[in-house]
Amino acid sequence: GKSSACRALAERLGFTYVDTGAMYRAVGLLADEAGVALDDDDGLGRLVAHLTFDLADGGTRLLVGGRDLSAAIREARAGDLASRVSTCPIVRERLVAIQRALGRSGGVVMEGRDIGTVVFPEATFKLYLTAEPGARAHRRALELRARGEAVDEPALARELAARDQRDQTRRHAPLRPAEDAVVLDTTRLTLAEVVAAMERLARSRGVVPPS
Ligand code: C5P
Repeated sequence: GKSSACRALAERLGFTYVDTGAMYRAVGLLADEAGVALDDDDGLGRLVAHLTFDLADGGTRLLVGGRDLSAAIREARAGDLASRVSTCPIVRERLVAIQRALGRSGGVVMEGRDIGTVVFPEATFKLYLTAEPGARAHRRALELRARGEAVDEPALARELAARDQRDQTRRHAPLRPAEDAVVLDTTRLTLAEVVAAMERLARSRGVVPPS
């Protein structure tokens, strides 16, 4: 999926990788753990007000409030929790501020649904990755199986479709390509091909790795 591709691209360019979905996932998990209802905007606001997010190992590990949540956030459940808390404006506002701070000095590959439209509308290069739902469900299934999780692929495809629908129709920062984004359909590409295409496009649009 897009995280593997973006992480590899960051490595190729010598940039820091920032996975913003990981942040929403972490907030979802922590809300769940703290017993904050996922539609309780005030409770979520209090939860995120003092959370700190630190990247370790070039962005591949995420420490939230000092805790390493890198493994927990990859569970399927965390994606669903994330999609629910991400509709909360206070949560978005807080995470966007943190993301802007992380990317302020450039040299980052930032991945997420609203990066080109909301977080960094002035980004040097914007890429919108898309793939047919069946292909995405299959990739996700392979990833979960590799981690030993039991997978029901049709159910996964339905969950992905429901999450897309929720992300695209929400009122705040809905998922859509920025007008100046390059759209890359990855349905028929391997991960290596996706990364190569991304790197080629990025360099041709003026993204320059540090020398
Ligand atoms: O990309 P990932 O699957 O990790 O994202 C999980 C969920 O977090 C998404 O379905 C979306 O609801 C939310 N999200 C978001 N804005 C971002 C990144 C993720 O709303 N920039």
